[in-house]
Amino acid sequence: MLTLEKFSIGVGDRFAHQAKAQLHACQLALKAGAEVVPVWNKSNREHSFIGSEPASVLTAAREAVAALDWKHGWHVDADHIRLETVDRFIPSSDFFTLDVADSIGKPAPETDINAFVDRHPELIGSLTIAGIDAPLQITRDQVRAIAAQFLLAVKDAGKIYRHVASVKGPENFIAEISMDETDRPQTPPELLVILAAIADEGIPAQTIAPKFTGRFNKGVDYVGDLAQFEREFSDDLAVIAHAVQRYPLPKNLKLSVHSGSDKFSLYPIIRRLLPKFDAGLHIKTAGTTWLEELIGLAESGGDGLAFSKEIYADAMDHIQELTAPYATVIDIDPAKLPAAATVQAWSSAEFTGALRHEPTNPLFNSSLRQLLHVSFKLAAKKGQRYLDLLKDNEAVVAKNVTHNLFERHLRPLFLPA
Ligand SMILES: [Zn+2]
Repeated sequence: MLTLEKFSIGVGDRFAHQAKAQLHACQLALKAGAEVVPVWNKSNREHSFIGSEPASVLTAAREAVAALDWKHGWHVDADHIRLETVDRFIPSSDFFTLDVADSIGKPAPETDINAFVDRHPELIGSLTIAGIDAPLQITRDQVRAIAAQFLLAVKDAGKIYRHVASVKGPENFIAEISMDETDRPQTPPELLVILAAIADEGIPAQTIAPKFTGRFNKGVDYVGDLAQFEREFSDDLAVIAHAVQRYPLPKNLKLSVHSGSDKFSLYPIIRRLLPKFDAGLHIKTAGTTWLEELIGLAESGGDGLAFSKEIYADAMDHIQELTAPYATVIDIDPAKLPAAATVQAWSSAEFTGALRHEPTNPLFNSSLRQLLHVSFKLAAKKGQRYLDLLKDNEAVVAKNVTHNLFERHLRPLFLPA
């Protein structure tokens, strides 16, 4: 079976121009001692906003791998697909993020729930799990309630999985199950029941993306209780280690952290916990490479800086429509957004200082960053003009893309301090 490497980073490349710069960051990590393989991911929603086809992601990835002579693993992720959107991704992807969040909470047939509870007496009672201090106490009613909540979602994942397997062959792709785009985080006992159900369904999931406690806003730091996150993440790692021993699941099953870019306050916690469980990690970034493109253009000055300011002015004119689809994953304070006329007068350093995610820089503006993050559609509308600017300023854009991934993400997550 196609096996996902222990450490992997999901990189978005909305305009398919930065694959080389992204891969270069993985090369730097490798030289520094950590093998982290790139997974180029793009969702159906992003393809439709940009007007691109899944095949373009594979083409850009292949070219980068050849150009940089990368001898390690790499993958192309059909991100957050469902049964009705998966087909056009099948030829050009080898990683499928099966999104079943919409089915969470929809009741499964009573007979399925009963069968599940009867099949799993081991889940009921006092359950000692290595790495969790107190035994989990789960009653029969609780197992039943969790099954009622998640069984249909797991069965849906099974339908998508079997569909892809029937076309591609089960050994030729990696399956991830994502439950992050829902309103409530899953607790460690819920994760255990979900994993038992995934095993029953025969899905060889190599990664699972639960929803964690706290806010994972796009492109900015984590907002939440760090101690609670640490406990929950640690318990999740313990539950996975337990589940892969107890159930027929791939031994390399690991956690996937979605919207994982820029969660700077979580990285030391994650880095501390992974070795404790000898666990792997898939960290999916939130498409922030597009922001590095804007930063690179602004840094270039001239037409590039003018273009970045133009996008900001457009974004200010269309705030409602741009932010509405992302309402649950951004927190923009309108009072903190400078007027377009103010930004028009900014130097390169003022623009990049506001946008680049350096929390200690007094110029950094998280509201501006989040607004521009969801404004990639506006650049797509500029068409060739945008792509030409990226080519004309390739060196400075690439430098920013690589630096962001390597210094702000790969280094704190995977390399010794
Ligand atoms: Zn996600």
